[in-house]
Amino acid sequence: MLSEWDPKRGRTGRPWRRLVATYCKPGTLCAGCGGEIIFGLRPRHPLGPSLDHIVALADGGHPTAPWNLQPMHLGCNVRKENTRRRQIAVERRKPRPETKLSAFRRR
Ligand SMILES: [Zn+2]
Repeated sequence: MLSEWDPKRGRTGRPWRRLVATYCKPGTLCAGCGGEIIFGLRPRHPLGPSLDHIVALADGGHPTAPWNLQPMHLGCNVRKENTRRRQIAVERRKPRPETKLSAFRRR
């Protein structure tokens, strides 16, 4: 049943929503902030349910394995994803060891 979801389709459609519903039940706590996940809010509300991939798919994380999934607020999930992207951007921009000359030139 869980293998129904095709990651290529993204986090939309019924199979994904069913997967979210399997992990996010009323009273479930967010893995990001520890707060309760709220149901019945408007769609895409930051306190609404979402399913987080502990290891992001982009980092080779498994799309549907239970050990890679955890319930999370949509807002916390977005924040986590943004942090991950920022870290990647920082990694790519890592400066080379600074020489005395380049430090001097910047002044
Ligand atoms: Zn949260």
